[in-house]
Amino acid sequence: MRTIGLIGGMSWESSAEYYRLINEDVRTRLGGQHNARSLMVTVDFAEIEAMQRAGDWDGAGKVLAEAAIVLERGGADMIALCTNTMHLVADRIEAAVRVPFVHLVDATAERIAAAGIERVGLLATRFTMEMAFYAERMARHGITVIVPPAEGRETVHEIIYGELTLGVVKDDSRAAYRRIMIDLVEQGCEGIIYGCTEITLLVDESDSPVPVFDSTRLHAERLVDLASA
Ligand code: GLU
Repeated sequence: MRTIGLIGGMSWESSAEYYRLINEDVRTRLGGQHNARSLMVTVDFAEIEAMQRAGDWDGAGKVLAEAAIVLERGGADMIALCTNTMHLVADRIEAAVRVPFVHLVDATAERIAAAGIERVGLLATRFTMEMAFYAERMARHGITVIVPPAEGRETVHEIIYGELTLGVVKDDSRAAYRRIMIDLVEQGCEGIIYGCTEITLLVDESDSPVPVFDSTRLHAERLVDLASA
């Protein structure tokens, strides 16, 4: 089995989800005492979050590229970044290493396309919903991304940063996410992307009226596919 290199995060809540999902998947596939060969580098989310707010994407890209180099030197055969938002600097990370960078958007988009869905709602951070990098990469797979209106985007974003990345889960916030998903479906969305790696702490498939594409799970599955190929 190949070694999966994980740039955790950016909150450890998300890193823990990746670690759990990858190892559960390996156990399902291989059974017995098998678990994934993996390495994880964890950066301090407080530093990255300050850079996000300041729009210092160059600085954040440098930190994450250095994390990828550490993983490669440690023996990782592939690199994955355990957050949607920071895929904004994916090119920078990919350019820093020789081993493959396994892109979260491609793993998610391929599953959406395979389900025959073209128009999909996105719940994610403000950066992921409002900056072009995510929707453009989805469009390469023939998928149109619809985001909530400004007020909904604000709600989704604030719940991620003020609650989920801190491990806080509230029923009111779940109800708010459900309402936002219903609005997206009324706008013609045939599926919903859980496009933030902490979202499944709050909602699961049963909270959406249409099929859910959980970026964390789909990315983790892709990594196990590649590690065991
Ligand atoms: N993990 C989140 C995401 O998937 C947001 C927090 C962060 O990592 O920046 O976008």
